[in-house]
Amino acid sequence: MSDKPTIAVIGAGLGGAAAGALLQKAGYPTKVFEQAPEFSRLGAGIHLGPNVMKVMRRIGIEDALDAMGSHPDYWFSRNGMTGEYQSRIPLGEFARERYGASYITVHRGDLHALMVDALDQDNLFFDKRLVDVDDSGDKVRLTFADGTTEEADLVIGADGVNSRIREKLLGSEAPIYSGWVAHRAIISAEKLKAFELDFEACVKWWSEDRHMMVYFVTGDEKEYYYVTGVPEPEWNHGTSFVDSSRDEMRKAFEGYHPTVQALIDCTESVTKWPLLERNPLPLWHANRLVLLGDACHPMKPHMAQGAAMAIEDAAMLVRCLEEVGADDYRDAFELYRTNRFERASRVQKVSHDNTWLREDEDPAWVFAYDVFEAPLKQPSNA
Ligand code: FAD
Repeated sequence: MSDKPTIAVIGAGLGGAAAGALLQKAGYPTKVFEQAPEFSRLGAGIHLGPNVMKVMRRIGIEDALDAMGSHPDYWFSRNGMTGEYQSRIPLGEFARERYGASYITVHRGDLHALMVDALDQDNLFFDKRLVDVDDSGDKVRLTFADGTTEEADLVIGADGVNSRIREKLLGSEAPIYSGWVAHRAIISAEKLKAFELDFEACVKWWSEDRHMMVYFVTGDEKEYYYVTGVPEPEWNHGTSFVDSSRDEMRKAFEGYHPTVQALIDCTESVTKWPLLERNPLPLWHANRLVLLGDACHPMKPHMAQGAAMAIEDAAMLVRCLEEVGADDYRDAFELYRTNRFERASRVQKVSHDNTWLREDEDPAWVFAYDVFEAPLKQPSNA
């Protein structure tokens, strides 16, 4: 029997899967509960910077990701209309040397599958939608929509932007619709061969109020992906995505560079997502409950660091439990919050402003960060 507390992680998204895998590696009896019946390979890509790849190393999937992902040599920012270069941020070998790990872009579904596989499969439960939490006793009692219950010493709310655990801590409050949507589409690179254009490995096309970020999601460069940021004053479709269309894309990116037009021409299906935010929360934990990732700091995805922050949170939380000792879980949770709040809030703000790498700048504060080595700041009331 382990003398470590039992932990329940609610949500097996990227943050919850990271937390579950790291806790299990550290010897905590951990169960992960996910509401979805299963995960599918939805059409979306994701950037993984060196700051996240260091966590992937600890989970044991860095090499697999390195083999699977595309390794851009640069992040280019270009004027959406003229194609003029606004920034050239070196990645590739430079990132490995300067920041200590690769910068890759991958298919989000492939990444997620690897992370979920890294969990102890006997302690991963699908189709378990948390509906109630009782944290008034020596253990937390969890009730799921199927009527089953579970108990755990500690509970991590990694349950995303509509978190039940956040609601338990702070009351019911819908996230803020930012006024922007994101279109997402995966394009077969084969189709792009019809154009005599250069499709770069990682490029963001910008104009005043909108952009299109484009990159490969596989190392063999067979799948190319775009994700946009486009203003749309109202959103009446709840928190989920809807279908978009080539026509809608043409309208949104009228006048944009021929390379962007070619991407739209090659689009077979495209989805549209509301971009949701919350102001920094006054509370990240109470008693035996603690939040991470989008449950406590959802953000516009314009820095490509939302999941990165969730994964860094997971690593810092486990580090703080180990540092303080899980018997003093309240102190461990406060140490965790102290060491995450400033960074996550800063990333939320830059993402909101959508200024990241638009012009040449030094990204070291994001990419060089090592969540396992960063000196720990003590809480002010310690
Ligand atoms: P989620 O990924 O939302 O996971 C929450 C999980 O909890 C889900 O699986 C959900 O089903 C489950 N759940 C919810 N409620 C319950 C319940 N009651 N009971 C049980 N389970 C529950 N980030 C990057 O780092 N790089 C990028 O390139 C990037 N691109 C993005 C592009 C777009 C268009 C968007 C919208 C986001 C992007 N992000 C990116 C941000 C990133 O997707 C999120 O920040 C990240 O997914 C947050 O992870 P999470 O684990 O906190 O939450």
